[in-house]
Amino acid sequence: MAADAPLSMHCPPLVAWSERLPLQVVLYGRDGALIEEGLAQLGPQAVGVDYFGPLSGAPRQQKLGERGMVVYPSGVEELVDNIHRLARGGVLVRLASGPGLLEQARLAASLGLPVDLLYNRSAISQEQAGGLLEHYLHHHALQAPLEPFHTILACLLDSRNLDLWELARCNPERYLFADQEGNLAASYDDLAAGRCLGSVWDPPGAWQQSGPGRGLREYQEGLPRLQPECLACQFFFFCRGFLRYQAASCQAWQEAFALLSQALGEIAQAREQWRALAGRDQGAGGEPS
Ligand code: SF4
Repeated sequence: MAADAPLSMHCPPLVAWSERLPLQVVLYGRDGALIEEGLAQLGPQAVGVDYFGPLSGAPRQQKLGERGMVVYPSGVEELVDNIHRLARGGVLVRLASGPGLLEQARLAASLGLPVDLLYNRSAISQEQAGGLLEHYLHHHALQAPLEPFHTILACLLDSRNLDLWELARCNPERYLFADQEGNLAASYDDLAAGRCLGSVWDPPGAWQQSGPGRGLREYQEGLPRLQPECLACQFFFFCRGFLRYQAASCQAWQEAFALLSQALGEIAQAREQWRALAGRDQGAGGEPS
């Protein structure tokens, strides 16, 4: 565990433990009051909140200060009822699978709330991914990023060194997830399924010797042999086998990636037009708009 690795943890039983270590902590849980208590105890060590409970009981914005909050609305109605509280900034929406996914994502993104679809990666259909991508690329009222499309596009445009493992925080070198018993895992899903890497009382780095820790390393190191299709995949530069590791559908995301690649042409054209217009305005002695 790196000394500055963010640690996601259930609060507050581990707060005392975390105080002994120079860690950044993301608090998570279903009880807004407990999370507020944890925020107050941790001070600057607390860098964020993942809140799973009803939005009406979410930690209050003033308690969060500059720290971000991730929320998991249960449906369109809950999102609508709480949209004004959430739209004050610093909130990322992760959406549960289900029939209302498209509506929720469109509503949240149009009202300025960043949306993360990765939480939903195994349930999202090709049709839903296509509909959301269309919304992300072309809707005039969109005011916020829709992940992972936004980061994939940024990587394609600026050659950023980022991949799905990092975006989904599935990287125990940098992120560890702890529950209130002190069990450590590589993700919330692994924690819930009991795929633990050890406990917070183990020596730093001991997780690498655990069964799931070794399994993760063997999968990543043996990828060319274990998943030869990945090497021929156009999306490999960003996915690096993450979707197969998570048993999620490759097809929906490969399709989305192909559409994003096509959109690069439109973006390049728009940039060209803007440069031409800016040059014309400057030539005429005006300010570029
Ligand atoms: S999208 Fe599927 S095939 Fe392509 S790199 Fe990811 S896991 Fe491998």
